[in-house]
Formats: sequence, structure tokens, C-alpha cells
Amino acid sequence: SLQNVPLAPPDAILNLSALYKADTDPHKINLGVGAYRDNDGKPWILPVVKKAEELILHDPNVDHEYLPTAGLQSFTDASAKLIFGADSPAIKEKRVGTFQTISGTGACRIAADFLARHRKAPIYISNPSWANHQAIFTDAGLEIKYYQYWDPQTRGLAFASLIETFKSAPEGSIILLHPCAHNPTGVDPTFEQWKIIADVLKSKNHFPFFDCAYQGFASGDLDRDAQAVRYFVEQGFEMLVTQSFAKNMGLYGERCGALNVVAKTEESAKKAVSQWCKISRAAYSTAPSYGARIASTVLNNPELYQQWTEELKTMSYRIINMRDELFKHLQELGTPGTWNHVVDQIGMFSYTGLNLNQVNTLKEKFHVYLTDNGRISMAGLNTGNVRKFAEAVDWVVRN
Ligand code: PMP
Repeated sequence: SLQNVPLAPPDAILNLSALYKADTDPHKINLGVGAYRDNDGKPWILPVVKKAEELILHDPNVDHEYLPTAGLQSFTDASAKLIFGADSPAIKEKRVGTFQTISGTGACRIAADFLARHRKAPIYISNPSWANHQAIFTDAGLEIKYYQYWDPQTRGLAFASLIETFKSAPEGSIILLHPCAHNPTGVDPTFEQWKIIADVLKSKNHFPFFDCAYQGFASGDLDRDAQAVRYFVEQGFEMLVTQSFAKNMGLYGERCGALNVVAKTEESAKKAVSQWCKISRAAYSTAPSYGARIASTVLNNPELYQQWTEELKTMSYRIINMRDELFKHLQELGTPGTWNHVVDQIGMFSYTGLNLNQVNTLKEKFHVYLTDNGRISMAGLNTGNVRKFAEAVDWVVRN
């Protein structure tokens, strides 16, 4: 009977949000949430998204019919150009297949189900990685292995170790990579390191799988954030690439994303997409249309696209500025330890290197909420709370 169903453990991040909500301290700080906040700590609807919504509202051709199983084509075509580049030879040669998904999570899940059926190989994910990676690939039945990514000593990339793991992994393994703004560490390989990773993957016939949740949101430059993906395409890999428009367009709840395949031939790309249609059909039929319409409108209208690139800078530069501010305050306070990693890291998240005890003290004594691994969302910092946060960090480091 249903009585025998065990209670599933709460999701760590959602649990943290609940704790934050329940805290009545007026100066509490939420650094758990993985969503952009403006300098007043409020969610930000991108003005370009509002413009697109106006256009959709008054478009006589818009209805509430089902989308095709592969999604809204004006969206998927534009999405592929965004990640691979408008002049991508792979797109011209029709070796790219793009499928609309329920945001980045849905793209990872469709990819996982596909790989479990059609590529019997272990998947290597970074340690640490976005917590949901493990959940998704486990549920899909893939064998998960890890490569070390974070070096606690340098508070940077464990490059030698990850290369070693890729070299010793069984030939033809699936390698999950974050192309920019690695979650949770905020540490990315340099472009030179990406080239070495590509060489090793090629020599072992590994299969790259890029989970791209932050294009444009990381550096403020859409092309720069896509350079690892584009380099791998140039190198002739077959691979999968997910996309999410949650962060870079602020479409979190609209669940707008895509899964791409780059194949050797047009036929292989078509076959892969046909399998994704089959998987999605049995899971949820078709993807939701509203977010894809918004993204399509922004991506296909040159004026709106231009505006979007400016708004991406607004978000990413505010975050970069908060990194600088946090670093400056820690310097001023003379907080023990090195803190350069705060400014060297990129994207929404920073792995502070704070331990579980310190994290708990931050919560209990200072009303500052962050995940147990010491990850903070830079988006939760603003000019009104960054000093207070630095002082709290200073206290826990010294005590
Ligand atoms: N992959 C990574 C690495 C992420 O950080 C995220 C966002 N937290 C996602 C995928 C997917 O997010 P969404 O489903 O909201 O697009």
C-alpha cells in the first residue's frame, strides 16, 4: 500500500530556500539560490523579454496548438546558431540536429536516456558537479564515474588529475563537461587547457557531452562563452550539447532549452533527433511553447538580439563587480587565507573553500544561507549586503 512508500529526502537547495524563508532576521542573506537577482535582491525580468512578450501578445499567428515533437523550429534553428556560431560549417553541412527541451534539465535527461540506450559506456562527471547530474544519470541507468575537478589546495582547477582520469578511462567513455561557468566551482579551464582536453579525448575516442547552462551569462560575451564548444566542433568531434535559456534570458520557470547533436553526417544527426522525439513522446509528448516563442523572438529579431547582448552584460557585469567588491572587503578586513579565487572564478557561483562548520555558523550566527559545500551564489550579493557578508566570513575564518 502507499503506506509503505518511504519519504524521499528533501532536495538540499530547495530545503535551504525554505530555511531562509522561515528566518525572520531582516538582514538575512540568501546565497543558495541559483537565479539572478538585481542590486535590490529582486528577480529581474529582462526588458527585452517584456518586449518580446508584447510582440507575441499581438501576433495574430500565435495560438495554443501543440508544438511539433522536436519543438518550435524558428527557436531550435536560432538556438543552434547561438551556440555553434551563425556561420558554423557543421550547421551548413546539416550535421547538427537540435531538439527543444524542458530547459537544461530536460535536455540532460533526454540526453541521458538516449545515451543509456544507444551508447553503452560510463559517463564521467566532474567532482564536484551540479548535484542534479548525478540524479539524472543515475535515474537514466548510466554508470557514473568521476573526474577530480576542484583542487582544494589551490582553490582552482585540478587539471593534471582530470587529464590523468581522461587518459585512463575506458576507450569511448562519455565525458560530461561544463563549457563555461562551471557549477558549483566557478572555475573554468583556460582555452589552452581546453585544447589539451580535446587532444586527450580525441586520442581515447571519448564522447564529449557539453552541458551549457550559462552562455552569455558567464562573461557577458555569447561567443566567448561558446568557444570551448566551437573548438570541439572544429576538431571534428561527434558530441552532444545542451542549452538552457533559464539564466541568460531569465526564463527560469518557462522551461526553455535545447539539446543538440553534432554528428559526422546529416543522416546520423537525424537519427539521433528521431530517438529524442521517441523518448519525449512517451515522457511528456511535446515541450511548452511560450518560453520558446520568447527566445525565438529575441534571437531572430536583430534589434532585440542587440538589446539582449546589452542586458547580458548588465547581469554578468553586476556579478563580476560583486566578486571585486567581496574581494576588496576581505582584503580590507585582512581575512586570513587567500581569496583571489573569488575574482578568478566566473559565473553565478563561487566555491569559497569554507567548510561545513563555517557554513553552519554562517547560517546560525549570521543568517547567511549557502550550500553545505561552501558554494555561494554571487547573484545573492549586492551593494547593500556584501560588506556584512565579508565580515561574517571574516568572523568564521578566525573563530
Ligand atoms: N546544468 C547546469 C550545470 C546547471 O547549473 C543548471 C542550472 N542550475 C542546469 C543544467 C539546468 O537548469 P534549467 O533546467 O533550469 O535550465
